[in-house]
Amino acid sequence: MIFTVAIDGPAAAGKGTISRAVAERFGFRHLDTGLLYRVVGVLGGDPVAAARGLGPEDLTRSDLRTLEAGQAASRVAVIPEVRAALVDFQRRFARADGGAVLDGRDIGTVICPEAEVKLYITASAEVRAHRRWLEVGGDAAQVLAELRERDARDMGRADAPLRAAPDAVVIDTSDLGIDEAVARACNLVAAKLVRRP
Ligand code: C5P
Repeated sequence: MIFTVAIDGPAAAGKGTISRAVAERFGFRHLDTGLLYRVVGVLGGDPVAAARGLGPEDLTRSDLRTLEAGQAASRVAVIPEVRAALVDFQRRFARADGGAVLDGRDIGTVICPEAEVKLYITASAEVRAHRRWLEVGGDAAQVLAELRERDARDMGRADAPLRAAPDAVVIDTSDLGIDEAVARACNLVAAKLVRRP
């Protein structure tokens, strides 16, 4: 069975939690595509060469979840050759047999416009920054400023900017508990699975 759930949205909106929950509930594979860009960002050197040489073992590095890695990722993610080098891997993952959930910024718009389910998970910048601050601590104002900076870069870049696909269902988690958000996502997937030809 080929079935793709594309989950896009800005940082700390809840994409990761929702993606993992959907994958577990339906027995689908899950790819956090942000990790691909994070690896390229933290490797340093020539980002295009790093993207072309990426291997599965790179995704298990322990230094990928930091704020710095997120900023480095969004800086290399504006380079069209970096994005191009990562497309095939993501498309193969999305359309391999067995069902897949991919979360990122351009899954429903560029990587897999044919995805059976497209979700756009969002929340206000203040709510997202607060969640990030609870995880990483430090200066709350700086966490918010960096998040806004990353949003602007991700939404403003020329190649594959962050935006909702026209046919994506938008889930705003600003005032929504994570259980409710997961339930909405799972209901949408279940409804599409039932109606498959
Ligand atoms: O989702 P995460 O915060 O790990 O993503 C890190 C950065 O990688 C994002 O800010 C974005 O610039 C880039 N990214 C992207 N396209 C994706 C996933 C992530 O450009 N599909």
